[in-house]
Amino acid sequence: MNFLPMEIIKKKRNGFALTEQEIDFFIQSYTQSQIPDYQMSALLMAIYFQGMNAEETLSLTKSMLNSGVTVDLSMIKEFKVDKHSTGGVGDKTSLILGPIVAAAGLPVPMISGRGLGHTGGTLDKLESIPGFNTQLSLEDFKKNLQEKKICFIGQTKDICPADKKIYALRDVTATVESLPLICASIISKKIAEGIDGLVLDVKFGSGAFMKNPADAENLAKKLMGIAQGYGKKVVALLTNMNQPLGRFAGNSLEVEECVDILKNRLPQDPTAARMTLETRELSLALSAHMIYLGGKTTSLEAAHTLAENLLNSGQAYEKFIELCKLHGGQLEKLPSPKNKLEIFSSETGYISSLDTEAIGVAGLLLKAGRAQAADLIEPTAGLEFHKKVGDPVKIGEKIFTIYGEDPSLFAAAQNKLLSSLSISLQKSATEPLIKKILY
Ligand code: URA
Repeated sequence: MNFLPMEIIKKKRNGFALTEQEIDFFIQSYTQSQIPDYQMSALLMAIYFQGMNAEETLSLTKSMLNSGVTVDLSMIKEFKVDKHSTGGVGDKTSLILGPIVAAAGLPVPMISGRGLGHTGGTLDKLESIPGFNTQLSLEDFKKNLQEKKICFIGQTKDICPADKKIYALRDVTATVESLPLICASIISKKIAEGIDGLVLDVKFGSGAFMKNPADAENLAKKLMGIAQGYGKKVVALLTNMNQPLGRFAGNSLEVEECVDILKNRLPQDPTAARMTLETRELSLALSAHMIYLGGKTTSLEAAHTLAENLLNSGQAYEKFIELCKLHGGQLEKLPSPKNKLEIFSSETGYISSLDTEAIGVAGLLLKAGRAQAADLIEPTAGLEFHKKVGDPVKIGEKIFTIYGEDPSLFAAAQNKLLSSLSISLQKSATEPLIKKILY
């Protein structure tokens, strides 16, 4: 059926629900480059403002899924499980939990994304490892899963090509924070992976797309509803993104943090160690839910113990090394940043809040992410955090370190970081990392 793109844009702009046929026409035509970016941008903005009802969201998900193939993993008999995060700053848990869960014997087919808006992406982190190829063929994806139980790839021309194009466009048209767009983007990719179960890490807070827990819970329920409609087992954890996760944000820096955790190494500095442990804790919690969902243990507690044992024994690290080799990555050549700038406090008190989106934007200014779809990432650019919310701070104490290759980018990032910071005389309460679990 043929429609006029402009009419569909106008209908959504005026707040009416689109039909399944209209949505499918727009998505398939855009994927085949028969609708230009500017018309898709206009529709995305109309969806951003007008939203979509449950039926439209399901139609959008289906259409994005049908723009490509669903991987047939039926030859793998074990329960196939993945985790997906709605996006954050310093959110690096996939690199740790993937190897843990694969080492537990459950296949982890991960189709990951690149950085989106101010948030980081797993593919960009992995590609900071020299040689790491995230564009493996579907045949290699299946082979690696069958033999090694783990593989991380990006969308291909075969898997959700619609999301691949739309994701990149949303990233640069300020249309990321839309419930139906997020739902369709995430679930279409996850269903295409051929998984049996999914653990969702739904972030809320200043660094998340959903700024408060109620909106995150709403998103989690919608994501779960669509995934369950496809017959998948699903659990969602609502987790705190009112501050960056862990010690570093930035691609090679985050890989380094993950390697420390996988090798059971803790930094000597107690604050840095505490931040590393924060990443470890969330990675273990998510791993435990994946392992339990996959039926490897009879309780969540036992799944947590198993995940911890796999980490402590070095088996998860061995799996990570295996993963790097499978993808051609040379971990020993992980680059280190050439330059750095330390940022010190001009006040004494307690860190009362960190505007985590602004911190993510500081990362973008350093080229740790993309401001435009075609931008190249600087793998070593990023940030180290020396203080988190609730920490005491004195005048002259270090709060952030900026890293990167190009010092001419540091001043703008420094200004952004300073604007992200609030210091007060009273210590504010610290919030738990995991707020709620939805089954
Ligand atoms: N992750 C995705 O894959 N898509 C979104 O829209 C947001 C987070």
